[in-house]
Amino acid sequence: AGGNKGGSGAGGAGEAGKICPRDEDFSRWYLDVIREAELADYGPVRGTMVIRPYGYAIWEGIQSWLDKKFKETGHSNMYFPQFIPYSFIEKEASHVEGFSPELALVTVGGGKELEEKLVVRPTSETIVNYMFAQWVQSYRDLPLLINQWANVTRWEMRTRPFVRTLEFLWQEGHTAHTTLEEAEEEALRMIRVYEEFAVQHAAIPVVVGRKSRMETFAGALCTYTIEAMMGDRKALQAGTSHNLAQNFAKAFGTQFLDENGERQFVWQTSWGMSTRMVGGVIMTHGDDAGLMLPPRLAPIQVVIVPIWKKDEEKEVVLSVGRQVEGILKQAGVRAMLDASEQRTPGWKFNFWEMKVSRRFQSRLRKGTAYLHPGRRDRANLKRQQCLDTIKGEIGPCQNIVEVSSYEELKAVIAEGKWAKGPWAGSDANEAAVKEETGATIRCFPFDQPESKTAMKCLFTSAPAKEVAIFAKSY
Ligand code: AMP
Repeated sequence: AGGNKGGSGAGGAGEAGKICPRDEDFSRWYLDVIREAELADYGPVRGTMVIRPYGYAIWEGIQSWLDKKFKETGHSNMYFPQFIPYSFIEKEASHVEGFSPELALVTVGGGKELEEKLVVRPTSETIVNYMFAQWVQSYRDLPLLINQWANVTRWEMRTRPFVRTLEFLWQEGHTAHTTLEEAEEEALRMIRVYEEFAVQHAAIPVVVGRKSRMETFAGALCTYTIEAMMGDRKALQAGTSHNLAQNFAKAFGTQFLDENGERQFVWQTSWGMSTRMVGGVIMTHGDDAGLMLPPRLAPIQVVIVPIWKKDEEKEVVLSVGRQVEGILKQAGVRAMLDASEQRTPGWKFNFWEMKVSRRFQSRLRKGTAYLHPGRRDRANLKRQQCLDTIKGEIGPCQNIVEVSSYEELKAVIAEGKWAKGPWAGSDANEAAVKEETGATIRCFPFDQPESKTAMKCLFTSAPAKEVAIFAKSY
C-alpha cells in the first residue's frame, strides 16, 4: 500500500465502485472500503493522508468520548508548540535513540539557515517537561494533569491510511506526581480508559497488558497497551500508556519541594490514542459490503431511503419517511432521510450500505410504515432488536491459542493466530523469535494464569513468572 497515484482515492489500485472481498485480499479490501466510504484520500506527500468528512466524523466520535472521560478524571486540555529545539530531544538518551530515525527536522526558516534545527513534534514529553520544570515548585502544585489534542509527525517508512501515517492526529496526556506509586496508578487508570473506550464504544475486543522491554516507549520505565485483533487476525496496538518514572524529570530538572522541604524529581506518565483507532474500527467491523460502524460511534446509524413509483405517491412516502426519521431521532438514533431526487433508490442503497451500520427500508402499506431491515439482516427485526443485535456482535477475542513450546508457537503464528505462552526470555531471544516468525511480543496480559508455579519459558525452558502474547502486527 501507499503509492500516491493521485485522483483515484486511497487504495488507488482497486476499481472505483468495487470492494474486493475481505477474505480474498484483506489489505486491498481495507483500502477499497476507505475509498468507497469516502473516509480518506492520499496526500501529495508519501505517507500523508487527507481525512474526509465521514472519516473525520468517526474521529470526532472518538474524540468526544475520550475528551469527556479525560475531564471527568481530572485532566485539563492545553496546547504546546509543534516546533521543539533539537537539543531537547537529545536530553533523554533512550528517547533520542528511539525517535531519531523518525524525526522530521526544520533547518531553514524565513529563507535563512536556523542557528538550531527544530524538530517537528513526534511526541511532546520534552517540551512538556521544559514547561513543567517552570510551573512546578512544591508538592502543592502536584499532581499536574494535562492533555493535548494535536497532530504529530513521525517519518514512518511503511505506511497505511489511519494505521500508520507520517502525520497523524492524537491526544497525548502528560502528568506529574509526587510518588512512583501515584504515577503507576495514573498510567494504569488511563490504559483502562482506553480499554473501556475500545470495548464499550468501538466494540473492539482488546487484550490489556504490559509491553516487553524491547517494545517499551523510548524513555519510559514501563508501557501498558491495548492490543486489538483485526479481521485478518493481525494485532493492532490501539493505545498506550507509559509510566515515565523520573527519566524526563531528571533530564529537564523538573523538581518540587516535598512536605519536608526537600527537593525531589517528579514522577510522570504520558498516554496516547490516535487516528489509528479509525483504522481499527474499519478492520474490526467492516464486511464485503463496506463499513459497518458500531452504533455508538457511527455518525449516521440509520438512513431512510424513500421509494415511490408514481408522482402522487411521492408526498405520502416522503411524509412517512419524515415521520420515521422523527421517531428514530426521538429515540436517540442518529437517523437521516435521504430525500434527494438526483439519485435512484438503488444507487442510494449501495452508497449508504458502504457507510452505515444498518439500513432500513420504509414501506408504505395502507397508510402504515413497516420497518424492515436491509440485506445485511436476514430476519425481519424491529429497530430495538436491530440495535440489540449489533450490540450482541461484540464477540470475545478468539484465535488466541495457548502454547508451551517454541514449535507450537511457530505453528500457531504460521496459521495467522495469536500465541500465548510462558516467557522468561532475554531481549535477544525476543529478537530471534521476531526474526524467525515475524511475530513480536504484543504484551504480557494483565489477565495472567492463577497458578504460576510450574510454568517454564517456551523458548529457554527456564522458570517463567508470566505468559506473553505473540502475534504479527500492523
Ligand atoms: P506512542 O507515543 O508511540 O506510545 O504512540 C501512542 C499511540 O499512537 C500508539 O499506541 C498508536 O496507537 C498511535 N500511533 C503511533 N504511531 C502512529 C502512526 N504513525 N500513525 C498513527 N498512529 C500512530
